[in-house]
Amino acid sequence: MAANRTFSIIKPDATRRNLTGAVTKMLEEAGLRVVASKRIQMSREQAEEFYGVHRERPFFNDLVTFMISGPVVVQVLEGENAVQRNRDIMGATNPANAEPGTIRKELAESIEANSVHGSDSDENAATEIAFFFKPEEIVG
Ligand code: GDP
Repeated sequence: MAANRTFSIIKPDATRRNLTGAVTKMLEEAGLRVVASKRIQMSREQAEEFYGVHRERPFFNDLVTFMISGPVVVQVLEGENAVQRNRDIMGATNPANAEPGTIRKELAESIEANSVHGSDSDENAATEIAFFFKPEEIVG
């Protein structure tokens, strides 16, 4: 399959523990290339819009509050089969269920503070990339 792109967030639990480099190293070792990256403080409005699909879920408010509790690093990752490759190295949503060697198993704190976000489809990747990056900010 041709190289394509996905969207990643290094979440506040990871930036707080100075794990930006550790997470990025695992992404790179999994065959993904960081073609855009910036450290930002998300606003509540931004986080609510980004996680809009989860608005009806019971953890929505907690999730938004967590995502704005500190800086995050938003990234565009490029590689062969990038969406699935990233989901594989991330591991299961709940770190307790994640495979050894995955980012969430090795680094995450809890089902909420699980260190990374990754797009779950090519379509969502394109939407999420456009939410945070202008085309000229992505240099492959
Ligand atoms: P993902 O695609 O693996 O990130 O999982 P989801 O799309 O299902 O959930 C989005 C994010 O919401 C997760 O990464 C967690 O940060 C958070 N989350 C998911 N399930 C729960 C839950 O049961 N409780 C809480 N507090 N947060 C959750």
